[in-house]
Order: sequence, then structure tokens, then C-alpha cells
Amino acid sequence: MSEDLFLKIIEREIPADIVFEDDDVLAFRDISPQAPLHVLVIPKKHIRTLNDVEDEDEALLGKLINVARKIARDHGVDQEGFRVVMNCNEGAGQTVFHIHLHLLGGRPLTWPPG
Ligand code: AMP
Repeated sequence: MSEDLFLKIIEREIPADIVFEDDDVLAFRDISPQAPLHVLVIPKKHIRTLNDVEDEDEALLGKLINVARKIARDHGVDQEGFRVVMNCNEGAGQTVFHIHLHLLGGRPLTWPPG
């Protein structure tokens, strides 16, 4: 058993509402949604925080954004607008230490965030 919660989802050790998967990336609905559409897009590679990203991960990080773009389009929020967020470390609100991109949409989103 992995100690990384999101690796457990990748490995199907705990359930999730998966909306996209390929060899590199998994996307699933957030268990505590903050918007009508709230999906987490994660790399299958374990990377603890954004501080741990390496140059060789550049394409993988770009893929997270591109997958989020397609999910936003497929869920019809691309034209009204959506937000992608990645929190790095506790001070920014990171609670799960496997990097993930939040895709939020389906309601007005104000700025700045808290
Ligand atoms: P962050 O606070 O940026 O680290 O985001 C972690 C996110 O993971 C939060 O929005 C949680 O609601 C979400 N989360 C925690 N456990 C699960 C789970 N088992 N399935 C789906 N989302 C989860």
C-alpha cells in the first residue's frame, strides 16, 4: 500500500470519480467540490510539490494544463471561463503531497483568492 493518497487512487486502492486517464495523467472529481466542476488533474509520476519538479518534467506539467483545457471544453465551461490552480506547500493550502492541478468552473470565480 502506498502512503500517497493520490497514488492510491491511481492504483485503484481507493475509489474516485475518474473523468480522464492516459499513461501519464489521471483526472478525477474532487471529493469536496468548490465549484460545479472541480476536477483534479494529476501526473501518475509521484512529485511531492511544485518545488520538486525537475526540468525533465516540463512536458508532463504542460500536459496537465492541456488535459484540463480539454476537460473544461468537454464540460462546457471553456467559453464562460474556468480556473486552474496548483497549491505549493502548506502556506498556499496544499494538503495532499502529490502535485495536482485544480480545474474549477461552472460558477463565477472572483479574484483574488483568499
Ligand atoms: P490541495 O489542498 O491543493 O492539496 O488539494 C487537495 C484536494 O484533494 C482537496 O481539494 C481535497 O478535497 C481533495 N481530495 C482529498 N481526498 C480526496 C479523494 N479521496 N478523492 C478526491 N479528492 C480528494
